[in-house]
Amino acid sequence: MVNRFRLFVIWLSLSALRSPTIRFSVSLSKQAFFDLVAKNNQKLIADKIDNMIYETKIEQSLILLKPDAVQRKLVGELISRFERKGLTIVAMKMLQMTSEMAKQHYRDLVDKNFFPQIEKYITSEPLIAMILEGSQAISIIRQMVGPTDGAQAPAGTIRGDYAMSYRQNLIHASDSSESAQREINLFFPDQF
Ligand code: ADP
Repeated sequence: MVNRFRLFVIWLSLSALRSPTIRFSVSLSKQAFFDLVAKNNQKLIADKIDNMIYETKIEQSLILLKPDAVQRKLVGELISRFERKGLTIVAMKMLQMTSEMAKQHYRDLVDKNFFPQIEKYITSEPLIAMILEGSQAISIIRQMVGPTDGAQAPAGTIRGDYAMSYRQNLIHASDSSESAQREINLFFPDQF
C-alpha cells in the first residue's frame, strides 16, 4: 500500500514536470538561483579583497608606559595585554624623559596652563618606551588604551581598568601615523 502510494507520488511529480508551465517556472527559478549564487560570489570575493587590504595595513605606534605605570609595577601586565591582542614589540627601552623631550613630545600642549604639571609628571621617574606593530595598530591600541581621563574611561580599557586620574593615566599611544612617525623618531632615533 505504502509502495503504491510512493509510486503514485513519483508519477504525479513526473507528470507535473512534463507540463510546459511548470517546466518554465522551474527553469526560471533555476536561473534566478544561479544569478543569486553568482551575485553572492561576487560579494564574497569583494569582501575577501577588502579584508586582505585591511589585514595588510601594518602600522607602528609609539607607546609610553608612563612613570606611574613603572611605579605601580604594571609594566608586565600592560605589555601582556598588547601581546595577547597579537601586537608585536619591535623595540623597547627604559629611559627618563628630559624637559626638552617632554616639550617636543607634547608640543601641542606646551602652551596650555597645565603643561608644567604634565612636564613635571612625565619627567619625574623613568618610563618604558616601546614601538608596537600590527595591522591597524594605531586605532586598535588607542581603543585598548581608552579616553584620557582614567575616571571616565570605560572598564575593559587600560585606563578604565587601572587609572583614576586625568594626568596620571599610565600610558601614551600615538594618535595618528604622522604622530607615530614623529614620536618614534624622538624616542628611537637610531632605530631605522
Ligand atoms: P591622550 O594621552 O589621551 O592622547 P592628550 O594628548 O590630550 O591625551 O594629553 C596628553 C597627556 O597630557 C594626557 O595623557 C594627560 O596625562 C595629560 N593631560 C591632558 N590634558 C590634561 C589636563 N586637562 N589636565 C591634566 N593633565 C592633562
